[in-house]
Amino acid sequence: MATERTLSIIKPDATKRNLTGKVVAKFEEAGLRVVASKRIQLSTAQAGEFYAEHKERPFYAELVSFMVSEPVVVQVLEGEGAIAKNREVMGATDPAQAADGTIRKEFALSKGENSVHGSDSPEAAAREIAFFFSGLELVG
Ligand code: ATP
Ligand code: MG
Repeated sequence: MATERTLSIIKPDATKRNLTGKVVAKFEEAGLRVVASKRIQLSTAQAGEFYAEHKERPFYAELVSFMVSEPVVVQVLEGEGAIAKNREVMGATDPAQAADGTIRKEFALSKGENSVHGSDSPEAAAREIAFFFSGLELVG
């Protein structure tokens, strides 16, 4: 399997509870390497654009207001099969369905406040990394 890069967001429910380090440890234990990282405060326009694919879904407004409620930590993770591996470490969207040992099983509060985002395809990873980072910020 090829080395890939994927975008991760540590969401407001996790940054608020001071869980950034514990979440990053999960990525590192799974063999994912943090090659870019920054803590930012999203604007409503930015969060709305980032989640534009969910515009028609009933939870869209709630999702956008949650994502701007506290700072987030956006990161680029690199590793063998990083896109799928990250999704595996994250666990299912709903923490009640997430497997033992996953980030969402251990830390998520609900289906909405679920601690992490991860790109779900190579196309999404490329788009989402470029949304937050310039090439100069990807230091390997
Ligand atoms: P993400 O895209 O954040 O990595 P995901 O791919 O597991 O998560 P999606 O279906 O893409 O899940 O939904 C995006 C996000 O929208 C979820 O992570 C969650 O925060 C929120 N969300 C999804 N479904 C619901 C719901 N039924 N009620 C509230 N929020 C939801
Ligand atoms: Mg998704």
